[in-house]
Amino acid sequence: MNKKLPKVHIIATGGTISGIGANRLDYTQYSDTGNRYTIEQLIERIPEVKNVANLTYENLLATGSTNITPKDWLVIAERANTLLQDGIDGIVITHGTATLEETAYFLHLTIKSNKPVVLTGAMRPPSSMSTDADINLLDAIRIASSGNAQNMGVMGVLNNQIHSAREIIKMNTLRVDTFQSNDLGFLGFVDSDGQVIFYRNSIKTHTYESEFSTQGLDQLPRVDIVVAYSGGDGLLIDAVKKNESQGLILAGFGSGTLPTVMKDSALELVKCGIPVVLASRSIMGRIVLTEKLRDEGFITCDNLSPQKARILLMLSLLQTSDTQKIRDLFEKY
Ligand code: ASP
Repeated sequence: MNKKLPKVHIIATGGTISGIGANRLDYTQYSDTGNRYTIEQLIERIPEVKNVANLTYENLLATGSTNITPKDWLVIAERANTLLQDGIDGIVITHGTATLEETAYFLHLTIKSNKPVVLTGAMRPPSSMSTDADINLLDAIRIASSGNAQNMGVMGVLNNQIHSAREIIKMNTLRVDTFQSNDLGFLGFVDSDGQVIFYRNSIKTHTYESEFSTQGLDQLPRVDIVVAYSGGDGLLIDAVKKNESQGLILAGFGSGTLPTVMKDSALELVKCGIPVVLASRSIMGRIVLTEKLRDEGFITCDNLSPQKARILLMLSLLQTSDTQKIRDLFEKY
């Protein structure tokens, strides 16, 4: 142990970054084998970390991120908060890329610390040719060890690019540059010279300034997402109502518009007191709260993706079911 180096703890949860394929060209079927590297084995592959941080680690989960649930977010948040309070300087979370952006945004709203928390994954498993697993893990450890990464909220890193948890989104099914930050751009780079460089910050409220807490919770309110499509009707929205969901994210066309029949069903939900947040199936841009939408009782998601709007609504519902108060939270976060 080198006392001069920061203490970084790695929470491993599974995902491609831990996957073992049948051969070096297995880029897509490795998850079917169920075989995984442990975090100990992944760290052994990157001896360079010895000069970066004093590492501790744990295999908290061993799953594809397709199976990560809100209950898992609560477990990860509690573990990370405890470690940060106990004197760890930074946290790395290895995670599947499929839902990395969701876990990241949940933690961005519920971690009570200004220390770096960094999620990373891989698009090519460690067993494959040209895997990105080793460099992504090393980069995440570098960021978690860096004084420059304080106060930045929760971050995601792949492909040497550092993203804010609020903006990160998986854009490509297979490429290693899959993660982008919508139309706002990523925060900075971590490059081969070991530098962790930031060029901007996400100024929406997060982590140590956030009012959301997970303390004592073992589940979150159920919120569902329905996506608009040509000829769409009220079938799925009615199912949400019958299922007693506590809120709905409605991903409309472009600026949040909907086929009339879908909108009528959504208005029924609003009348029943179930918050409906309008989002968009388009990836970029804001949804504007027009006077008409305000009068109809809708909430709008600003520029959050539907999957992140869902997380913010779940956390908001722990505090209030008042439409205007939820609108204020969507403006703040
Ligand atoms: N199926 C994987 C997961 O999300 C994909 C990945 O890790 O890239 O766990």
